Amino acid sequence: SRQFTRPLNDLANQFNTLLSAVAGAERVFDIMNESEERKDEKHARDLEKLEGHVSFDHVSFSYEEDEPILKGISLKVSPGETVALVGPTGAGKSTIINLLSRFYNPTGGQVLIDGIDLTKIRRSSLRSHMAFVLQDSILFQGTIRENIRYGKLTATDEEVEKAAAMANADSFIRKMPDGYGTVLKADGEGISQGQRQLLAIARAMLADPDLLILDEATSSIDTVTEIKIQEALEVLMKGRTSFVIAHRLNTIQSADQILVLNNGQLIEKGNHDELLKQNGFYADLQSSQLKEQLLG
Ligand code: ADP
Repeated sequence: SRQFTRPLNDLANQFNTLLSAVAGAERVFDIMNESEERKDEKHARDLEKLEGHVSFDHVSFSYEEDEPILKGISLKVSPGETVALVGPTGAGKSTIINLLSRFYNPTGGQVLIDGIDLTKIRRSSLRSHMAFVLQDSILFQGTIRENIRYGKLTATDEEVEKAAAMANADSFIRKMPDGYGTVLKADGEGISQGQRQLLAIARAMLADPDLLILDEATSSIDTVTEIKIQEALEVLMKGRTSFVIAHRLNTIQSADQILVLNNGQLIEKGNHDELLKQNGFYADLQSSQLKEQLLG
């Protein structure tokens, strides 16, 4: 629904605007960095590397005054963990991602990465350690090679192809008329949604981020491609702190932490077994009707 996708659309739009504003990928990051840096706090610094600790400490947030969206969210994530965000549409899942990627600052409380308040880190530096695989993956007009290379502009052709192979994308790319040189249209015409996702995964693989944001696809993708995507995502997430807006039961069940959100509050957290034992909101997943609701 519209409500569900809006915040991550903000994020996607921001990229799209930048992408369509320039011809080649090379300048995109420059422009982004410039405009971002201007907004950074005076003493904000760059981080060399992220360990991947994430914590929210009594975070509250509202997009508009007097309209609290997140209420007292506290959570702690260790490096390498996979975190599944679940909850009905409008619960605040995307808003958590928006704060973590610092498209917004919290109204109250703190978001910390490796113990450092996000406002003390330059946005460009923060984002250079992050990669996003979104439902509507963002492609720009250019070759497949350029589209993947966007994950790391200095990558050699060999690195691009290695990332594509790790993302299970290499074989379909090689079947395209001009292989890696095939020119894509900005709207992704000519390749399937599943293939777009594989490209987004290849791009993220190349970026080699410390922190990964994943918005699982809700629309159906053919089974073969779906399996390729799942395999590739497992490889991508391994060893990286990953936040997943999860729609697949498998993802949720195997997550290190499940954060159950409802109406801007974190109502339950734990892994699948722990949450079942709590016998609360998550346990009610057993009823299939609720399942749909919970998965947004
Ligand atoms: P979810 O991702 O769980 O569906 P969201 O984080 O998208 O939930 O939304 C939480 C609430 O914040 C919803 O009530 C939604 O309408 C509202 N919201 C989301 N984005 C904005 C925005 N840019 N401006 C105002 N309200 C917003």
